[in-house]
Amino acid sequence: MEAADKDDGALESRLIEILFGEVEPGDPLSPPIVLSTNFKHGGVGESWEYSYTRTGNPSRARLERALAFLESGSSAYSFSSGVAAMAMVFRLLPPRFRTVVPNELYGGTERLLRTLEVPLGAEVRSVDFGDLAAVRDAASDGVDLILTESPTNPRLTVYDLAALSKIAKDAGALFAVDNTFATPLGQRPLELGADLVIHSLTKYLGGHGDLLGGAVIVRDEALGKRLLRLQRSIGAVLSPFDSFLATRSLVSFPLRFRRQAESAKIIAEGLRDHPALSEVLYPGLRNHPNHQLARKQMAYFGAIITIEHQGGLEALHRTIKRSRRFTLAEGLGSAESLFGHPATMSHATMPAETRERAGIREGHLRLSIGLEDPADLLRDLQMALEP
Ligand code: PLP
Repeated sequence: MEAADKDDGALESRLIEILFGEVEPGDPLSPPIVLSTNFKHGGVGESWEYSYTRTGNPSRARLERALAFLESGSSAYSFSSGVAAMAMVFRLLPPRFRTVVPNELYGGTERLLRTLEVPLGAEVRSVDFGDLAAVRDAASDGVDLILTESPTNPRLTVYDLAALSKIAKDAGALFAVDNTFATPLGQRPLELGADLVIHSLTKYLGGHGDLLGGAVIVRDEALGKRLLRLQRSIGAVLSPFDSFLATRSLVSFPLRFRRQAESAKIIAEGLRDHPALSEVLYPGLRNHPNHQLARKQMAYFGAIITIEHQGGLEALHRTIKRSRRFTLAEGLGSAESLFGHPATMSHATMPAETRERAGIREGHLRLSIGLEDPADLLRDLQMALEP
């Protein structure tokens, strides 16, 4: 099946129904923000749906219902950031857990593993996830978690999620996918066999560059209960106000992401043969090494393009300075177009040799395509890339 067939527009209608449909006559149509930390108890020893905001809050619950729906999960748990969500996934594992991860991994996830989990006894095996035999081999020695991104940050490498899920099942391991770049509109890993989906809500789902948040979504109810316990016990929860902002953002998420992905395709095609560039990485380009897999697995190819300037860092500085449409900033997935320099920003904390193994070089620049006019963005980039 051509992956694009999976997006029939029904998702948008159901999403609106979930976000706005649960109202009784006289209720406000737009959901209120419930800031209260305390909820009145009916009697000693009686349990109520809401008691205290760390353990449950109506604004957070509304967001989590929508996230579970978007990712085809049974439940979702939101946290104060994407890395907090990732840390909760590691807390599901036994002490001294063993994990297999790709060489290409978001810098914050790599740092979390290397600086916090490894000192506590975790064993991290990094391999090329494009080589399924290598993953199988790394998993054959006993493994608790196989964790990946796809497309990866920042090289946009696409991995075969159904095949990786099978390897994890055979090895008796959990399979987790950081779906931040693809979003649930691009692909739904739980439908491909993943056990856990992780999001930085800070990116496309938040979409306006004004909230920090993360989420974990699962299909298995027992796993969900364990995550709920962690959420309540550790308390790194998403605040009611950020939950409200994220819920509000979800209303326009499909519209925004479709536009951004369509614009990214136009811009990637426009830059593909640019003489100043040695690499133009975008899974939707026919010459992308994983294009066929991306076509099969994804309904949209995402809205990030990574380019490498032939002229290295100096030429890159010039391009960044010249552009009038792209702002150099840490994040991605916002309404405005952003440049990111992985070597000194998102992947700066990675040891140089790990970064090299991941194929991240000084000349790489990550473009997060915003909501502006794609022809205007392309003209701006062409002007900025002139020698
Ligand atoms: N996962 C990916 C793929 C990311 O790019 C990021 C942040 O850039 C994160 C997770 C972490 O998210 P947050 O910044 O919300 O903690």
